[in-house]
Amino acid sequence: MNVSRRDWLKGAAALGAAWAGGSPLAASAQQTKPLVIDCHGHYTTEPKAFLAYRQAQIAALRDPAQKPAALKISDDELAESVQPQIDFQRARRTDVTLFSPRAAGMRHHIGPAETSADWSRVSNEIIHRVCMLRPDNFIGVGQLPQSPGVRPDNCIEELERCVKSYGFPAINLNPDPTGGFWRDPPLTDRWYYPLYERMVELDVPAMVHVSASINPNFQGTGAHYLAADTTAFMQFLTSDLFKDFPALRMVIPHGGGAVPYHWGRYRGLAQDMNRPPLDQLLLHNVFFDTCVYHQPGIDLLTKVIPIDNILFASEMIGAVRGIDPSTGHYYDDTKRYIDALSLSTDDRRKVFETNARRVYRLDRTDYFKRRG
Ligand SMILES: [Zn+2]
Repeated sequence: MNVSRRDWLKGAAALGAAWAGGSPLAASAQQTKPLVIDCHGHYTTEPKAFLAYRQAQIAALRDPAQKPAALKISDDELAESVQPQIDFQRARRTDVTLFSPRAAGMRHHIGPAETSADWSRVSNEIIHRVCMLRPDNFIGVGQLPQSPGVRPDNCIEELERCVKSYGFPAINLNPDPTGGFWRDPPLTDRWYYPLYERMVELDVPAMVHVSASINPNFQGTGAHYLAADTTAFMQFLTSDLFKDFPALRMVIPHGGGAVPYHWGRYRGLAQDMNRPPLDQLLLHNVFFDTCVYHQPGIDLLTKVIPIDNILFASEMIGAVRGIDPSTGHYYDDTKRYIDALSLSTDDRRKVFETNARRVYRLDRTDYFKRRG
């Protein structure tokens, strides 16, 4: 992978300093260093056989003879496929990634509900295998078998498999399974309530994450994703969802779309609608990640949104893969932006570690049970 040598050297120097000598000072520094939990990563380096399975599954919708055989990928192939992600983790000095299937690959709009069910089972199983193979690098997050026009009750079985069988602490929830046409009810509709009831019982949050756009008006990662983040927030603002589910937790990715930039608008809209102030209305339940790919965006996010509601994430390797010529660093090397903030030690730890541990109840995962 094209990891910059400068980053590698910086990482090596920092590791060397942290582990040097075993002096009390070094030990103390090590203890106070927050764990860096990246709450938003996708499996975007899948083996070819995995993608071929999906292609055959889609082809079989027209020609049943093309139905794929059971997926066979060796452990070695899986381990090799995630090595680029691990290399980036090391280079950027992040510790562990909450790892879900490729978001644009969910494509809930394809085929009937059975197609999504099969694809979600296969995708979640492969994520689970990766997490078993590389348990120090990844904690799994599941994909739900949503399907346009189908009540999300059909997702409960896969939700339970993800949580109970695989130990995943969260799932991704697509607010628009139609792929950019928004024909299904909003996330706050009772349509979703049976799923939410089970999520609350299992005590798992959702990341609100759309998949690919098939509406030519909306480019995927720049328009559909950010519009969906903003749309979900406004759905939450205008509903009593969190009055009905006080323990339900939603993570809005990509820095919350346009929300932090327009925080005054949302506060004002809530006021005009005689809604409670936002901190009472939804900040016990709604969280934002740091997938904002420049310093001024992160400065604004952390200035506007309470620090308790911000979770570190990079979405690496994902939407934006290049190097910013103005900094010489990858746009999605988001740890650098947090490092550059003048945060207190406690607040920095919240963003990197403790907020994610709290929102995702990560202490239940094998990763944290091993760490103690
Ligand atoms: Zn994503």
